[in-house]
Amino acid sequence: MKLEGRTALVTGASRGIGRAIAIALAEEGADVAVNYVSSEHAAKEVAERIRALGRRALLAQADVADYPDTFRMAQEVLGEFGHLDVLVNNAGINSDKTFVKMDHASWRKVLAINLDGVFNCTKVFIDQMLKQTYGRVVNITSVIGQIGNFGQANYAASKAGVAAFTKSLAKELAGKGVTVNALAPGFIETEMVQGIPERVRNKLLDQIPLRRFGTAAEVARAVVYLVSADGDYITGAEISINGGLLM
Ligand code: NAP
Repeated sequence: MKLEGRTALVTGASRGIGRAIAIALAEEGADVAVNYVSSEHAAKEVAERIRALGRRALLAQADVADYPDTFRMAQEVLGEFGHLDVLVNNAGINSDKTFVKMDHASWRKVLAINLDGVFNCTKVFIDQMLKQTYGRVVNITSVIGQIGNFGQANYAASKAGVAAFTKSLAKELAGKGVTVNALAPGFIETEMVQGIPERVRNKLLDQIPLRRFGTAAEVARAVVYLVSADGDYITGAEISINGGLLM
């Protein structure tokens, strides 16, 4: 097992990609704190899966957009685990509209969760990682932050912001035992993409050389690679996992 003795927190781990990441980290031996904002039942199910693997699991409810709330969550997690080795900033939302129809509230909400949330959760754990002189931070960005998309100006801006944040932090923390990387998925089969109409989905598939959407488990395996010893020499990278959509 690659993560024996490690502790991790995954934001937005109640569903989709975050859920798969939390379980994959536990399968490699990590104890995992499962963050969610409102899906308590789903988060409990993820925690049960982790415990069934023989690992410790914590429910870590907090709204990542709310700094005091993330600070409280971090204190609780550190109180239980004693340290935190791996932080996966995965929580994210979209609120799609063409720019002309996009209101300020929708812009703020997406930026608050997707970008401020990454600042908040990293900020509340970074002192502990520096004290340990060890930390692995993985931020989930998106191919949309790399290429932009019709109706997703807010989402694309938030993810491009996270990518730039990743590189800056990687430079600041490289000499201190903390690596910071981003993982940029393309279209992955989760609730986030379930609303895509059949016609649009087929158009997208035409643009993806591997001719399918990815799975949450495939993204999770890339996270395991980055946070295990296999990824020790990688920092400041934004790794694409998109079936060839962007190359
Ligand atoms: P999802 O199925 O919609 O799940 C979103 C997760 O984020 C849930 O666990 C949700 O918790 C949590 N969340 C939402 N707002 C939160 C908040 N304010 N505080 C804490 N947690 C919050 O999404 P997904 O498709 O797995 O996406 C996960 C990440 O991958 C996102 O950052 C997304 O942008 C990125 N991504 C997804 C795709 C894709 O195709 N699916 C592609 C590229 C990038 P609750 O259940 O409690 O609401």
